[in-house]
Amino acid sequence: MRLRDFNPANIRVEDQRGMRFPGGGGGKLGCGGIVLVLIASLVFGVDPAQMLGSLEQVQQSAPAGQQAGGTTASESCNTDALSKESCAVLASLNQTWEPLFKQASIPFQQPKLVFYSQAGRSGCGAAQSAMGPFYCPSDHGIYIDTDFYREMEQRLGAGGDFARAYVMAHEYGHHVQTLTGVSDQVRSAQSQNPSQANPLQVRMELQADCYAGVWAAKNADLIEAGDIEEGLTAAHAIGDDTLMKQAGQRPVEAAFTHGSSAQRMEWLRRGLETGNEDQCDTFADLRR
Ligand SMILES: [Zn+2]
Repeated sequence: MRLRDFNPANIRVEDQRGMRFPGGGGGKLGCGGIVLVLIASLVFGVDPAQMLGSLEQVQQSAPAGQQAGGTTASESCNTDALSKESCAVLASLNQTWEPLFKQASIPFQQPKLVFYSQAGRSGCGAAQSAMGPFYCPSDHGIYIDTDFYREMEQRLGAGGDFARAYVMAHEYGHHVQTLTGVSDQVRSAQSQNPSQANPLQVRMELQADCYAGVWAAKNADLIEAGDIEEGLTAAHAIGDDTLMKQAGQRPVEAAFTHGSSAQRMEWLRRGLETGNEDQCDTFADLRR
């Protein structure tokens, strides 16, 4: 896809690359961690509450207040091509979503894009690149280790700029859900009905996929030949059933947290084809 020029001063970017976090860091996982990482590293949109719980304790004992310092958005965005691309996609996402919030009279706040390398710190606990990109609701942060994109291309065969943009747009979808209150509603429904926690999570994820498609549809002039295919390939590659098979497990639907490959493609496609966020109501049948 073609990305428009953007002014780094108008977006929120934080850079944790090159920073060290005591208690964080990778490479210390035992056998039990391997399956988890194998799956988690391939999934983006990890729910921090679920995935970071085990790491959080370690992190809380570490000294706080190590804010990313000194780096301007312009410097962070110009670190390399992937950083620049991520910043440009973020700027485009802001430009697309902000007016939609205005129309709906819902207060809008920009999320921040946080670059980290291998290990980082978020308002939801420690960040490790093995987890893949994620969104942290408590600090409105989209956390990305750009090395993940290489992983995505090499291990999942889901490469290309549009596949990467889809990742960002999906995480941004979680930001949208936070601002609209859908996230809170789902959290409380999950705690009231723990047996439905996973199916509810799947609906959240599919909605974020649909929102990603809506963003792309509203920027149709930037889409190039092959982009849509790239996005759908990525959506297929990160379906729960496909990931479980790849990890040598039999797909168990009750354990799905992001949706099957077919579902993820279906909802991304719905967003792409309608370009209408109202068509992304993955909860509709629950209200009937
Ligand atoms: Zn997600």
